Amino acid sequence: MRHPVFRFIQPLVFAVLALLALTAGLQFAHAQTGSFGGNPTLIWPLSGSSQADTASSPFGPRWQASQSRYDYHPGIDLPAPQNWPVHVITDGIVSEVGWLSASSGLAVVVYHPALDLYSAYLHLNSTDVALDDSVTQGQVIGAVGDTGITDFMHLHFEIRLTRTNYPTSTRNPLGYLPHPDVTTPTIRIGSITSDPIYSPTVSLVITAARTELDVNIITVTVRDKTTGAVVDARTVDLNQRIPTGSDTLATIDAGLQPSAFNTSTLDYKLTANFNLHVDDGFTLTAEVADLAGHTASVTRVADDTTPPARVQDLSATRQPDGGVALRWTAPGDSNMVGAAALYDIRYSAAPIDSFTWYSATQIASLPAPLPGGAAQTFTVAGPLPSPVYFGLKTSDSEGNWSLLSNSAQARTAWRIFLPLIIK
Ligand SMILES: [Zn+2]
Repeated sequence: MRHPVFRFIQPLVFAVLALLALTAGLQFAHAQTGSFGGNPTLIWPLSGSSQADTASSPFGPRWQASQSRYDYHPGIDLPAPQNWPVHVITDGIVSEVGWLSASSGLAVVVYHPALDLYSAYLHLNSTDVALDDSVTQGQVIGAVGDTGITDFMHLHFEIRLTRTNYPTSTRNPLGYLPHPDVTTPTIRIGSITSDPIYSPTVSLVITAARTELDVNIITVTVRDKTTGAVVDARTVDLNQRIPTGSDTLATIDAGLQPSAFNTSTLDYKLTANFNLHVDDGFTLTAEVADLAGHTASVTRVADDTTPPARVQDLSATRQPDGGVALRWTAPGDSNMVGAAALYDIRYSAAPIDSFTWYSATQIASLPAPLPGGAAQTFTVAGPLPSPVYFGLKTSDSEGNWSLLSNSAQARTAWRIFLPLIIK
């Protein structure tokens, strides 16, 4: 006979199992329905369906192997054999047809009233439509070619928000055409030149799966390691970046350097080099967001290991009241850059070196260091030994101590009687 408690536990176990199964089912259902980006009612121009075409060049920064330079690509390149049919992505009206420019080659541009945007199809071998024709989704409007400036058979496809302002009106087609949206771009820190920290460069490596070329926004936030205050922040919006028209490696924002990418490479890789303005230890957080808002981030703490510069011009001058006026050039937080955190000034009746420093008398109530390079003064009240020697060390906010300064000497008033006493 079963213990009565089982009559209570057994239904409870079934209830928990049922709940787990339901939760798993819901998660599965979510994964099935919530994993697509873009507008599900549009179709891709080569497949003529919601099946994504394979791209050999993403929207945004790219390495143009044929010309050995970086540029900003206002569309996506979809390789295909010559005369492969090109389908219009949704209903519309042909707004341009023919040679739009020497580089575009034979092209068709279609206005889509329902979406209030344009789709553009470049480098065509032939066209099947005329100006002002009404076209319906999937209709063949032309055939793939290599007209204009290109060196392989492909369709260059664009989304344009307006008829004018080309190419600033272009947007990443991955924000419009339907595609699986299941992965998030990855981001890692390639390197930080953090020591010395005057103006470090951070190199970020962003990778996107080739099926999801929807890298959108890269942000970098730099906080002071000690105070947490934001000292630098940068954002690059790849989707809405305004091309300069003469993009080269030097002019691309933040030094965006895409690695070679084509139909045979696995992922799209982008290196973003940010030149930061920091003179202290910092915490850096870099984030990448795709068009669907998926984000990945990475954080790195960079220590400041560079001490303030050694003071080499410390001077001591006797004052009428028996005190001594000290004067020196303030060092910085790191060498001569920025402002250090505190001084340690000591005096002794013997010349100060790295050995006598530890037995020398420490002076209290010292001034805060001025910015590097500034002339700084401080008067030490008497009575003081004669002769008296001073030495100075400086620390930054992270406890990096400078080397000991020169030993500065002064004599107080009764020094003139000293020869008499000895005689
Ligand atoms: Zn192209």
